Amino acid sequence: MSTVKDKKLEPMETKREFYQLIINGERTDSTTGGTFTTYNPATGEAVATVAKASVEDAEKAVKAARTAFDFGKWRTSPVNKRSRTLNKIAGIMRSRFNELVELEILDTGKSLAAAQGQVMQAIEDFEFYAGAIVSHRGSVNSMPGAFQNITEKEPVGVCAQIIPWNYPLMMAAWKIAPAIAAGCSVIVKPASLTPLTAIVLGEICIEAGVPEGVVNIIPGAGSEVGNYLVEHPQVDKVAFTGSTPIGKDIMAKASQTLKRVTLELGGKSPNIVFEDADIDAAVDGSLFGIFYNSGQSCEARSRLYVNENIYDAFLEKFIAKTKMLKMGNPFEKDTHVGAIIDRKQLEVIDGYVQSAIEDGAVIAAGGKEASVEGYENGFWYEPTIITNVNHEMKAVREEIFGPVVVVMKFRDEKEVIGLANDSEYGLGSAIWTKDYGRATRVSKQIQAGIVMVNCPFSAFPGTPFGGYKQSGFGRELCVETLDLYTETKSIISYYGGRPLNPFGI
Ligand code: NAD
Ligand code: MN
Repeated sequence: MSTVKDKKLEPMETKREFYQLIINGERTDSTTGGTFTTYNPATGEAVATVAKASVEDAEKAVKAARTAFDFGKWRTSPVNKRSRTLNKIAGIMRSRFNELVELEILDTGKSLAAAQGQVMQAIEDFEFYAGAIVSHRGSVNSMPGAFQNITEKEPVGVCAQIIPWNYPLMMAAWKIAPAIAAGCSVIVKPASLTPLTAIVLGEICIEAGVPEGVVNIIPGAGSEVGNYLVEHPQVDKVAFTGSTPIGKDIMAKASQTLKRVTLELGGKSPNIVFEDADIDAAVDGSLFGIFYNSGQSCEARSRLYVNENIYDAFLEKFIAKTKMLKMGNPFEKDTHVGAIIDRKQLEVIDGYVQSAIEDGAVIAAGGKEASVEGYENGFWYEPTIITNVNHEMKAVREEIFGPVVVVMKFRDEKEVIGLANDSEYGLGSAIWTKDYGRATRVSKQIQAGIVMVNCPFSAFPGTPFGGYKQSGFGRELCVETLDLYTETKSIISYYGGRPLNPFGI
């Protein structure tokens, strides 16, 4: 068995010039021979050539995933075997940690510290689900009379998993790990800007012993390949992370075949600093909350509300620290803020800053494209603070997805809860206060899937991640995710000694 697999998938360097699709346990070129180039946003230089999946390739991937699910052994394999395989995937990832970090940095332009944390979390996701799946079971329900009900958790089937460019490996792990733990087959469609680490992860899965057809990776155009998967009658579930408009489109299209859908979409997360907060901790946490990953995070704390009594003192420190943030060589340990994913995104970000200026806002720091020595051909934006804003402004209402924060004053708890909830989104939120009662009260009233209390971090394996309102639905990274990759089957049986005759004839 393993010799057959080895023949199929020769181990290759993590970093190389050409990456192929992964379909049915094999590396393969696109049926059309199409390719595309992926770039390093920090330098503007090409990183690699990638096979570009066509609709025919998507069809091949669906067939492979379908066959693996309907006739293969993964779904019915003992849970401890699947658990062991997930741990093996994590082990191979650990052994290639530095290579994965390097590849992620090259493909995204993000900083070393950010990439290291994200690759480590991707590894830990597999370890988490290796454990969680073992205790993910059905139930026995008591019934009146001589009846017994047991439920079983059965994998939902073939899952299309469409992911964005901001956390390429981590998003792939969030999708693949729970799905294959549950026994599903997956077809992952990475973002075209950042396909490399997801492809390598697919290869690692197969190397670790995931059978052919269970994990397929097909980079290609979202509007073609992604759309094809969403409409395909043989696909049972779509798990999507990306922008809210595409999420709505996917939900509408998936309804035609009544697919299971989970959506992790955009955000405009509030960050609230109360009068009694530890100001320095709040400054540092707010800084990380918006400028980590260059603000290209769905849960970026991009609306900052500061109590009026500490507003000036807070802002002074916040601006000073923002100006200390270092951009530059992403491979250096003390680079804080990496590049922006591409020229188009850079222009989107600047467009929002310009709109704020036109609306009468004040730029308190940054506010323009950054020139970074030695990285003149890359895409960089200065960490930006905007004040004198209100909730009518576009820059306050819409997701910018860049290193830009809008800052507002508030009077009291009631007012700030109203402001925090005045958004179509509801993904993350943060509260800074030393008052436990206040932290609890406010946490309960905020319409968001995640509340961070005196804490800059939003996601750990085991903690639910996902949104309220137009930030989507479903939760990832946690035990409940396994419910979203399984169906509950109810088995009712009669164990009485006397035969039943319900019609009485
Ligand atoms: P995007 O919606 O443009 O693309 C996401 C993915 O969908 C890509 O792989 C893309 O190719 C594919 N796609 C595009 N059009 C499609 C279509 N018609 N049918 C099927 N697939 C299609 O988003 P992006 O620009 O890659 O990522 C940024 C967005 O993602 C932001 O809005 C951000 O808030 C969101 N995001 C959310 C989370 C979360 O967990 N909630 C996490 C990361 C990113
Ligand atoms: Mn790239």
